[in-house]
Amino acid sequence: MKHANEIGRTVRTTCAYCGVGCGVLATPEGNGLVKISGDPNHPANYGRLCSKGSALGETLGLEERVLHPMIGGARADWENALDLVASRFTAAIEEHGPDSVAFYLSGQLLTEDYYVANKLMKGFIGSANIDTNSRLCMASSVAGHKRAFGSDTVPGTYEDLEKADLVVLTGSNLAWCHPVIFQRIAAAKAERPEMSIVVIDPRRTATCEIADMHLAIRADGDVALFSGLLNALAENGAIDCDYIGQHTEGFVDAMRESRSMRLRHVSERTGLGPEEIRAFYELFKRNKKVVTVYSQGVNQSASGTDKVNAIINCHLATGRIGRPGMGPFSVTGQPNAMGGREVGGLSNMLAAHMELGNAEDRARVKSFWNAPRIAEKSGFKAVELFEAAADGKIKALWIAGTNPVVSMPDADAVKRALEACPFVVVSDVIAETDTTPFADVLLPAAAWGEKNGTVTNSERRISRQRPFLPLPGEARPDWTIFADVARRMGFAGFDYRSASEVFDEHARLSGVENDGARDFDIGGLAGLSEAEYDLMAPVQWPLPAGRVARETRFFAKGGFYHGDRRARFVAVKPPKPEETADFTLNTGRVRDHWHTMTRTGLSARLSAHIAEPFAEIHPADAERLGIAAADLVEVASPQGSAVVRALITDRQRPGNVFVAMHWTSRYAPSARIGAVAHSATDRASGQPALKSTAATVKRFEAA
Ligand code: SF4
Repeated sequence: MKHANEIGRTVRTTCAYCGVGCGVLATPEGNGLVKISGDPNHPANYGRLCSKGSALGETLGLEERVLHPMIGGARADWENALDLVASRFTAAIEEHGPDSVAFYLSGQLLTEDYYVANKLMKGFIGSANIDTNSRLCMASSVAGHKRAFGSDTVPGTYEDLEKADLVVLTGSNLAWCHPVIFQRIAAAKAERPEMSIVVIDPRRTATCEIADMHLAIRADGDVALFSGLLNALAENGAIDCDYIGQHTEGFVDAMRESRSMRLRHVSERTGLGPEEIRAFYELFKRNKKVVTVYSQGVNQSASGTDKVNAIINCHLATGRIGRPGMGPFSVTGQPNAMGGREVGGLSNMLAAHMELGNAEDRARVKSFWNAPRIAEKSGFKAVELFEAAADGKIKALWIAGTNPVVSMPDADAVKRALEACPFVVVSDVIAETDTTPFADVLLPAAAWGEKNGTVTNSERRISRQRPFLPLPGEARPDWTIFADVARRMGFAGFDYRSASEVFDEHARLSGVENDGARDFDIGGLAGLSEAEYDLMAPVQWPLPAGRVARETRFFAKGGFYHGDRRARFVAVKPPKPEETADFTLNTGRVRDHWHTMTRTGLSARLSAHIAEPFAEIHPADAERLGIAAADLVEVASPQGSAVVRALITDRQRPGNVFVAMHWTSRYAPSARIGAVAHSATDRASGQPALKSTAATVKRFEAA
């Protein structure tokens, strides 16, 4: 598809930011201006947009862009840049083996970009060293889904949130991080005031404005809370024995572990009072239609996968899954975290929800790709990947569409890793991020509004991102850059002429020898013509070839993806509360900025919401430490330190400090909180525990 780029012509596309995946109408108005509004027909948002989405038109300028390839900081042409990338990757592989190279990608990439990069790394280079910043976002949910369901399946839909009688939001500040889902729930509650909403979060966030109950839980108390809930449901005869008997395994073992979680123990582990715990359990017991939403507060934890399974256990035990208004619901942070999972863009996945550890799956994918080899074992996950680079194990690294020097935990260690890596490629939209100075080769990638492809949102809905602006300078879509390098490395199978050809291959692969054996199947979208792909309306998977009726929910009648088609309860043990040095550092987002501000930082309107980085501190802690409102404070850990403004508020738990993760060296040189965060990860998922770094806080005294 050529970009429309016609002044006054409206193009339907999908928002560049969060995993809600809202439909956007973009109308170029000339002089670089683009009018943005919500797409009234898109099932994710029905015309709504949040502040970030509605400001998209303010962030499309070219001032910050990288517009031509650079080699060693000097302008270069594409031929030389691509030749150099291909030759350095080839040389590293020949000399040190396929596992000496790696890709680190982004949930901002389109499915087509991810697909080509994954095919190149796993099928042709023969390594699984391809990971993504989505590891920081939802890897624990993926691992929890696979343990429980035998597949990475989100069972429900956004509609379920509106139909529920009880919505439990745990570790999820929807009001700021998934605002349109929040708007949909708020509207449903306005219509049905009897609908109950419970927010479980150490902070009293903006999401609490619509909550009937806020449980200010201690960091990482979720496993205890939901294990206690399972126990309470069983003791009160509120479980669904038929569903458990017909569709699950492992209930007895899970109960054995949960039985010790009586009210007193739950209270000790969570810091919550017995009465509020009892009230929550009673609400859950009483309301059949329950959706439990979770995101980073659950996932970004050393016990993240266990938290996910503790939640899913409660839904399996009550049969509250996959029916209208019921189910566990992981919402993804990024616009295409889900699409990345579909193509296997994580170091422990294959493609189309096939398994790296399954020899038949590997053979199936290798044969479909006509690939010379196929990765046989998991590669490095995000934190491991940069540790391996620091240790000299990675000789060539390609970072696409992400800024790990800000976003990764122990971010100064990432700097050292990039310094140690002999050859670093960065393909990005923005010329100067904290990461680009480490690039030996910097490649100009196409941005939102210029790119053509698909993304998948949190409810498994595939939507088109369509171009409405010309490609500026020499920028190219990411999938073409990966394909160009693949061809230069001597690999066949990368002669795509368009994004639709890539999508078609992805859709066909999903249907190969599937026949219902895997959840992800979009074989029904294979064989679209260019025109049909251009016009493709938002659609939820699964969509197998030849299937007319579309079931949009999974598992109401069982049919899980373990070999015996039964779900698994997972016996989980609450982690012991850790003795922290002083404070538990919690990092997260603010309403109007996105990731490392490369786009939202361009909008004065968005920056006006919260103008500078801050640390939320409880008044009792502030008094103890002699910190006054708006003082500069230093938040420090063995990893590093950051200096930000004190925001003293009783929304915060005593002993906790919250600092937003967005500010980069460019906007606030001393506020990179990633440099303070520890690099501990969840054992099952490899997701960093960004919500619970042991830290100290003190008034900052300038030297
Ligand atoms: Fe974009 Fe998310 Fe806002 Fe929707 S809710 S407009 S997808 S940032």
